[in-house]
Amino acid sequence: MCGIVGYVGPKEALPILINGLKRLEYRGYDSAGVALLNGELTIKKKAGKVSDLESVLRPETLQGTVGIGHTRWATHGEPNDTNAHPHSDQRGEIALIHNGVIENYAAIKKTLESEGYTFHTQTDTEVLVQLVRFFYDRVGSMETAFRQALKQVVGTYGVAMLSKMEPGRIYAARNGSPLALGIGDGEYVVASDASAIVQHTRQVIYLGDREMAILDRDRYVTKTIDDEVVNKQIEEITFDIEQIERGGYDHFMLKEIFEQPETIRNAMRGRLNLEESTVRLGGLRTVTNKLRDARRIIILGCGTSWHAGLVGEYMLEQIAGIPVEVEYASEFRYRDPILYKDDIVIAISQSGETADTLAALREAKRHGATTLGIVNVVGSSIARETDAGVYSHAGPEIGVASTKAFTSQLTVLSLMTVMLARMRRMGAAEGAHILKALTELPEKVEYTLARAEQVQKIAHEIASTQNALYLGRGYNFPVALEGALKLKEISYIHAEGYPAAEMKHGPIALIDANMPVVFIAPKDDIYDKIVTNIQEVRARSGRVIAIATEGDTRIESLAEHVIYVPETHPFLSPILNVLPLQLLSYYVALQRGCNVDQPRNLAKSVTVE
Ligand code: GLU
Repeated sequence: MCGIVGYVGPKEALPILINGLKRLEYRGYDSAGVALLNGELTIKKKAGKVSDLESVLRPETLQGTVGIGHTRWATHGEPNDTNAHPHSDQRGEIALIHNGVIENYAAIKKTLESEGYTFHTQTDTEVLVQLVRFFYDRVGSMETAFRQALKQVVGTYGVAMLSKMEPGRIYAARNGSPLALGIGDGEYVVASDASAIVQHTRQVIYLGDREMAILDRDRYVTKTIDDEVVNKQIEEITFDIEQIERGGYDHFMLKEIFEQPETIRNAMRGRLNLEESTVRLGGLRTVTNKLRDARRIIILGCGTSWHAGLVGEYMLEQIAGIPVEVEYASEFRYRDPILYKDDIVIAISQSGETADTLAALREAKRHGATTLGIVNVVGSSIARETDAGVYSHAGPEIGVASTKAFTSQLTVLSLMTVMLARMRRMGAAEGAHILKALTELPEKVEYTLARAEQVQKIAHEIASTQNALYLGRGYNFPVALEGALKLKEISYIHAEGYPAAEMKHGPIALIDANMPVVFIAPKDDIYDKIVTNIQEVRARSGRVIAIATEGDTRIESLAEHVIYVPETHPFLSPILNVLPLQLLSYYVALQRGCNVDQPRNLAKSVTVE
């Protein structure tokens, strides 16, 4: 949450900052602001989107080759002009932008107030910049003041700061919130993620916790906030600029939905070992023995990643025969979990920066468990802190409602399942059968997406309602949860996902002629059971939309609308069944006039608790 960008170099900074903010806007869009140094320090900020900021900027008054910019997802203080970043000290000589939460801000504020400082905003961030000022006035060195202030604060931060006193310099630091440093030719770009850097340079450094950087036009230094110099490895950004542009689609979400044949292919690329009917996951090589001997797997995640984990539970238990527990990362970390040394803990996160998942992972490490990551963003915190892991290779996901990252996570989970199953109890023939199903999957995804128009026609069934129910069983119960979540996120319709049989124990009371009920009803060994559940809904006049397996004509007499998906191995069926649900939520949101890529109150990568 919150996008940070900063530039030092020979070029005019403003266009670079605005461009960077647009790339980072998926991280938060409550307000946007910039600060530029050109002899004077000028700050401009505005509630709303980056485009709202742009409409009030007069570029001719905002010149300078050093600057910082911020797009906010508010945690402290309402999203208005005043609380927008950058924040400055009371003399207006230092400007600072921040991603994260300063937990002890109230105590520091009180102390500073007693020293005569006055505050103009409700944010925790203003406290940090004032604290830098406080130290600067005592020690006379901006660097020392910056470090001392950071050492005083408790909480998380990715910060960038500049000051009138040092007109060619940016300070940046990180603790818990991501920060990358682009190393260009005579210029530096600091940003929350590489998407705002890649058009300037492919060389990046990812700052670690309690690390900082000092960027001057011709040199940079990285050190800890305790003043120990660290030599960081320069890494190469592997994705292209086209991957983070809309490429002709109306929305990132739609583009990302349609990328899924390719992203699923990428998640499998080089990983299927057809000769030995198994799966090769290089990132897990160092923990092979631990995986073979593991007695239990615990999966941690939030939101859509948690849903992927639930599907993983069904996969790993049924196919690999390993007991699995799936936990909300935010709950796990606060409830003294019981962990054993031969437990494997898998953290799932698209961004690899999800604050709760990262903290839960650290908790698991403290208990001595072996930790793995299923992460999309290469080099992210979770990827670095786990013992081993598998990248999902979905490419940058910008749409706030996750789509392609989810199906890539499921693909990776299916690969891990096959690998573990083949180590334990699955024979080569079954392995070969599953690999064939995996190989055929991308084409089936393509085929399913080609029917988007049919889904679009059905969207009106849901667009005018206030509530919807999503029901599924077995592997597809988590798909029901995910379908409901997608609808809530982008169309603001209240939707619930439930195990279909569980409906009788409560939600059935909601069913009447106005309630659309989406059933995920593939032709598997519990098909007859779900048909009974559909009958129960129909008997109460509910409107049934069914996601069914191609060739299943029986269901047509039971449902008002049927969306068919091709047959596949049952454990891969969630990957196909979720596609129409992603499309359905997209078209419903469009019909309701909602902002699909920037749904209210949400942000893409949740780097605060
Ligand atoms: N706590 C800061 C604010 O509310 C930054 C929030 C964030 O990073 O999401 O302005």
